[in-house]
Amino acid sequence: MSFTQFKTLILLFPLIFSLDYYDQTGSTWGGDCQSGIIQSPINIKTSDAEKDNSKFSFKSIDYTTIQSTSITYQHGYSISTPSLDNGDITVVINGTEFKYKINNIHFHLNSEHTIDDKLYNMEMHVVHENTNTSDTNNLHMVIGYIFESGDDYEDNSFLESIGFNTGETVTNVNVKNIVKKEDIYYYKGSLTTPPCTEDVNWVVVKDIKKMSKSQYNKFKEYVIKLNNKYNKGNNRKTFPLNERKVYKSGVNENKQNKFIKISSIFCSIFFFYSIKYMYLRYIFRI
Ligand SMILES: [Zn+2]
Repeated sequence: MSFTQFKTLILLFPLIFSLDYYDQTGSTWGGDCQSGIIQSPINIKTSDAEKDNSKFSFKSIDYTTIQSTSITYQHGYSISTPSLDNGDITVVINGTEFKYKINNIHFHLNSEHTIDDKLYNMEMHVVHENTNTSDTNNLHMVIGYIFESGDDYEDNSFLESIGFNTGETVTNVNVKNIVKKEDIYYYKGSLTTPPCTEDVNWVVVKDIKKMSKSQYNKFKEYVIKLNNKYNKGNNRKTFPLNERKVYKSGVNENKQNKFIKISSIFCSIFFFYSIKYMYLRYIFRI
């Protein structure tokens, strides 16, 4: 077993061996899970999120289709990638470029992050590892997608493509169908399962994705079966933000910022010429 495969197994260990979510905070997990100060997940208060594209931006997304993937349905719906050779994603965080590779994709019932105190039905985590393994503060980047189910909602095509509807294992997962440059929230946090290490750049996608009621029910059935001891989901509860800040950035935020910048330039020019005109009128008593 290579070191990478070993690390993948370690990361998936909690999911495979039914992690104890009895009080849903992980108070029995120990280590950073108990003593950490920048733990995840958190509640994202949207009005407090600061608009700042310099904190996080997607530079390039160059994934290939993930081949020979094993999907474990009966153990909490996780997708492990047998190798990290699935292309990469380059992001810019506080002016520094980072290159990450996908390690695994897994799902939580209900969502782990809450948005303005609202808990959603499901959250998908696309877990990435830093290609520079010596950067211990930035070892992981997780992109979180929050899903909501509804009676009128259609099947989500990405979830369908990875076998949510049938429970069958698929051999190709096209992550490009879901990971795109879009508006996100960014903050610094931890893994939400042991060892809860505080080395995660968290990216929570702003747009809430939709899934059909039947996709949700099927998923719920699997997770509850896994966690039947407590009849609860596999979502950790939220932690205090403490000294941290949540930032928002992305394509639309950019457009809004550009609009504001251009508007303020025009306002300044108008203001300058108005003053000049008034001054000239005053001087020459026009
Ligand atoms: Zn997770």
